[in-house]
Amino acid sequence: MTKMRSLVLLLMVSCLWAGASVPTAAAVEHAVPPLAGSVVRGFDPPDQPWLSGHRGVDLLSTVGSEIVAAMAGRVVFAGTVAGRGVVVISHGELRTTYLPVRPLVPVGTFVSAGQVIGQLLAGHDCFGGVCLHWGLKRDQAYLDPLGLLDQAEVRLLPADAAARVEQLIDLRGRALAGGHGLPGVLSRPVPGAVGSRFGMRLHPIFRVRRLHNGVDLHAGCGDPIRASAPGRVARVSYDSASGHRLEIDHGNIGGHHLVTIYMHATGYSVRTGDRVQRDEVVGRVGSTGWSTGCHLHFSVSLDGRYADPEGFWQ
Ligand SMILES: [Zn+2]
Ligand SMILES: [Zn+2]
Repeated sequence: MTKMRSLVLLLMVSCLWAGASVPTAAAVEHAVPPLAGSVVRGFDPPDQPWLSGHRGVDLLSTVGSEIVAAMAGRVVFAGTVAGRGVVVISHGELRTTYLPVRPLVPVGTFVSAGQVIGQLLAGHDCFGGVCLHWGLKRDQAYLDPLGLLDQAEVRLLPADAAARVEQLIDLRGRALAGGHGLPGVLSRPVPGAVGSRFGMRLHPIFRVRRLHNGVDLHAGCGDPIRASAPGRVARVSYDSASGHRLEIDHGNIGGHHLVTIYMHATGYSVRTGDRVQRDEVVGRVGSTGWSTGCHLHFSVSLDGRYADPEGFWQ
């Protein structure tokens, strides 16, 4: 190897090194929001790593909006993870993540704060529409990305971002505690109409009055059953009453623990511990257990008590 070539190599290595170690303090001073949308979901890390929570913040926007780098740094990932477009930027010891995003910068690109790195795609569930999920990590620890912005910049988002998030969380908590449900939290697991509602009814098989602890939804044999919200499969079981039964744990919403239960399926395609996305197909409608024909029985458990599922969708 010539002396010249080693010098070039050495220069390249030192450039990469310099880029990789953007001084954290300086970078933080120059943080900008990755887009101008309102914060509709705040940072809410789970108590345990396996529980669901929210390891970033959601900014409300529209599909196709430009996403900019929050701080100067180097793109260390630009591609898809589990079917979602993701960009990760390294800022020395901090890393920021942006998803779901169509990346417009290749890995290795040095970007400045405010430089366009991609366009927002659909796919991240949030209150009110399409959101960018913005995350911040130091080693394995998730941090609140809003902490990067100084007061003036937080005010640039919506004037009252923090207050609105507080309000939303409070509203969710009170709506749930009042037993009124929370429209929009769950989507319908099958599109069919409600046949039998939640509440006291004459049981169709036993001819006695008892609590119908969910809703019966019209559906054809073999129709797909979709997860009502993102979560983790808590249990897949079979008993003579429920037939094939599935429980999905959606974690805490506004301080309340939400679980959805699906019954009478021919079977489920997910297993205990699996993570599921909203609207992901988890099984097929059937008539197993105490059932008089193909339909989906769907229950909602809030803090361990049955609640009317119709209060949770629009
Ligand atoms: Zn999010
Ligand atoms: Zn039922």
